[in-house]
Amino acid sequence: MSANSTLPIERHTIFQNSLMTALLDGIYDGEMTVSELLGHGNFGLGTFDALDGEMVIIDGTCYQLRGDGTARVADLQQRSPFAVATNFVPRIVRDAPPGWARKDLSAFIDGMMPSKNYMYALRITGTFSMVKVRTVTKQQRPYRPMADAIGDDAEHVFTNIDGVVAGFRTPIYEKGISVPGCHVHFIDAGRTRGGHILDFVLDEGVIELCPGTDLKLRLPVTNDFLDADLAPEDLDAQLHTTEVKE
Ligand SMILES: [Zn+2]
Repeated sequence: MSANSTLPIERHTIFQNSLMTALLDGIYDGEMTVSELLGHGNFGLGTFDALDGEMVIIDGTCYQLRGDGTARVADLQQRSPFAVATNFVPRIVRDAPPGWARKDLSAFIDGMMPSKNYMYALRITGTFSMVKVRTVTKQQRPYRPMADAIGDDAEHVFTNIDGVVAGFRTPIYEKGISVPGCHVHFIDAGRTRGGHILDFVLDEGVIELCPGTDLKLRLPVTNDFLDADLAPEDLDAQLHTTEVKE
């Protein structure tokens, strides 16, 4: 089967629990269960109650990626303060150019998109010569803003590893609702290791995109959310510190 195909854009919903700005403001209490979240998609990412690790959903299974770099299947009753999910339909598929690093591949993926004005779920399956990840670690109340809490995170570098990059390419106009640009997590083929991706080099693999035309946003009903500051003046700097780190 040729890995290169493109189907026309069809209406497709991406689901999101809470807001990136809420997470930045320290709203870490998970109000939504993994069980409920999986009802909105078989693919996605996010984090867990109290920022206890990174989340990735692959093929309908939700994994918790812990600070030690290991992965486990999340319990359905675990809770999440922030997650994005969809039912992944690989409408645009390309073989990846071999040996490209994340920055170059990002431009290649831009070229796969019929328009930068839609959301895209992004899946890259392949062999990676290097994957650098970070993982947030469990926080205690009173919660600090994420830009401070991120100082507790752990970084890991995996080499020569088969796995999946899973996440979303979000238009800039969604800044604050979600993470603008590319937000991706990694889990290895054996589902034993992973984290929030900082960088990678893809030896060989397949890139799949699922365009999203509709956004279903679920806001928390909690006292913390009532009082959250969701329009900080330094939003760009906070996003850079927490998601890019460089
Ligand atoms: Zn992440």
